[in-house]
Formats: sequence, C-alpha cells, structure tokens
Amino acid sequence: MSAILNFLGEDTIDKSQVDVAVNEYLSLMGRIKESNARACVSVKPTQLGLAIDYQMCLYNFQALAKKAKELDQFMWIDMESIAFTEDTITLYLELLKGYPMVGIAIQAYLRRSGADILHILEHEGKVRLVKGAYHEPEEHAFTTREQVDENYSRLMKTLADSGNFFAVATHDDKLVDEAIGKNCEFQLLMGIRDELKNKLVSKGLQVAEYIPYGTHWLPYSVRRLRERKRNILLIARSLVQQ
Ligand SMILES: Cc1cc2nc3c(=O)[nH]c(=O)nc-3n(C[C@H](O)[C@H](O)[C@H](O)COP(=O)(O)OP(=O)(O)OC[C@H]3O[C@@H](n4cnc5c(N)ncnc54)[C@H](O)[C@@H]3O)c2cc1C
Repeated sequence: MSAILNFLGEDTIDKSQVDVAVNEYLSLMGRIKESNARACVSVKPTQLGLAIDYQMCLYNFQALAKKAKELDQFMWIDMESIAFTEDTITLYLELLKGYPMVGIAIQAYLRRSGADILHILEHEGKVRLVKGAYHEPEEHAFTTREQVDENYSRLMKTLADSGNFFAVATHDDKLVDEAIGKNCEFQLLMGIRDELKNKLVSKGLQVAEYIPYGTHWLPYSVRRLRERKRNILLIARSLVQQ
C-alpha cells in the first residue's frame, strides 16, 4: 500500500497559518524523498489560503507542485465545500499547465461533477472520485444515497472510458467491485475498512491509504462521525495515540 499524507487544517484565514502549512508540506515532501516512502501529499485549498485570496492560493500550490515535480512525486488537491468548487477547479486547470503530476478530488454528490470531469479530462487531468463529505443544498447536490451512488457509477464509467488514470476513493463494496479491472487506484481512509484494503492488495491491485495527521482534527472528525457514528472509536483511538 502507498500513503497519501494530509496535514490537517482548513478554512484558514490567518496568513501566517497558511505559511506554516506550506512549509510543513515542503518539508514533508523532502522527508518522503529521504525515506524513500511510497507516498505523496493531498492538500486542501483553504489551508493554502483560498478563503483569503485566490492568487495567493495559486502561488502556494505552484510552490508545492514545483517541489513535487523536482522530487518526482504526485500531489493531490482535496475538494471542499461548494463555495470553493469553481475556484478549486480553475486553480487545478492552471496548475496542470506546468505540472501534470497533480490530481483533483471530484464529488459524485454534486450535480455539476459530470461536466467538470469532462472538462478536466479534456486537459488530461487526473481525478480522485469521492462521494462528497460536506452538507450541500439540493440545488447543488443529490441528496439521497441512491442518487449519489448512481452518479458515482456513471462518473466512474466516464473516467474509465477516457483511458486516463483515476482514483476510486470509497469504502463502498458495491462501487469498489465495479471498479475492479479498471485503470484506477483504490484509495481508502486510515482506520476504515482495513480488511478491504488487504483484500484489494492481495488481488494485486493498487491501493493507497489516506493518512491525516496534525492537531486541527475537529472538522475532519466531525465529517467522519456524520458518515458513521461508530467512527467515534476511531477518533478516540487516534486522540489517545497523539
Ligand atoms: C482517500 C479519500 C479521500 C477523500 N477526499 C475527499 C475530498 O477531497 N473531498 C470530499 O468531499 N470527500 C473526500 N473523501 C470523503 C468521501 O467524500 C466520503 O465522505 C467518505 O469516503 C465516506 O463515503 P464512502 O464513499 O466510503 O461511502 P459511504 O456510503 O459513507 O459508505 C459506504 C460503505 O462503506 C462502509 N463504511 C463506511 N465507513 C465505514 C467504517 N468506518 N467502518 C466500516 N465500514 C465503513 C460501509 O459498508 C458503508 O455502507 C475522501 C475519501 C477517501 C476515502
């Protein structure tokens, strides 16, 4: 299994905290290289200043993408709430011009995602397909589980038909089964469904574990709790280990 590392933090409005995050990622990338780990980073745009200023955020992402390119590492961009979707995609397409080894998360619950994926594929972009973790209004998002799962299947087919590499980031057995045999990597969150990760690895499939770390754990933990109340145990365990 490879690792996707995320330094916890989001919705940052303090410029000095943005600088802390940029420096953390730059040094993390260096440490991945030094230790020869099969790993890359995944970064939230609002942690790099998207809620403050688009140009500053783009500049910060360019610095990380440049470092990733020098070190021959991939970099993922996480997708956040609908307020940031448009800017995140614009930023990604800008970044792709100089840095092809960057990918973006796209949320199957958003009604716009089919069009976004086609646009990204036109630019040879790489997509991590997720269901979506924020609370969005019906105007923007499918709200029933059936609709979201159906859209996920549909988007996965578009990605597979394009022939481009993509990532299937879900713990949903049905969707994982559907993805087997396609040109994709499986990505799962740390602490969730370890038996599924092992099953996929034993089939010789490419699997990556998304590992968040750091002290800004609250928003991430609340999203996990909303998905499944039993995740309280996972959160309690990681707090004790810190
Ligand atoms: C690698 C990765 C990156 C992500 N990046 C983003 C991002 O950038 N932006 C974003 O909005 N969202 C992101 N997400 C979160 C994602 O959108 C979902 O909120 C989250 O993955 C839960 O949805 P699910 O696809 O697993 O499906 P669900 O419908 O929540 O779960 C499907 C099935 O998985 C199993 N399952 C789920 N949780 C557990 C558990 N704790 N223990 C045991 N079984 C469980 C159950 O069988 C459940 O029925 C990411 C998820 C992953 C895995």
